[in-house]
Amino acid sequence: MKNQTHDKSRRAILKGLVSIPVLAIAGYQPTSYAAMLSADDPTAKALSYTEKSTTEGQTCANCSLYQGGTAAAGPCPIFPDKDVAAPGWCKSWAAKA
Ligand code: SF4
Repeated sequence: MKNQTHDKSRRAILKGLVSIPVLAIAGYQPTSYAAMLSADDPTAKALSYTEKSTTEGQTCANCSLYQGGTAAAGPCPIFPDKDVAAPGWCKSWAAKA
């Protein structure tokens, strides 16, 4: 009985180890579950954040501060605990190096 428990635990660990390289090869990016930043947020207003950029060639998706990768929304350190829209923009936009 005890050996069966250990076998199950060992199998679970090995399955977990096998899945890590598979996720890396598949280009897995963790999904963010933070609430979306509202344009009515005081800091968002101060930085003229908008969910749809009107500044040609500048969006959150191509900002150096955007941490959402290719996701439609993701984190930005300017707005902790909130996700910004990839097509969005704010005054802190900075070109990627
Ligand atoms: S700094 Fe502004 S433009 Fe850049 S990702 Fe954050 S919200 Fe978007």
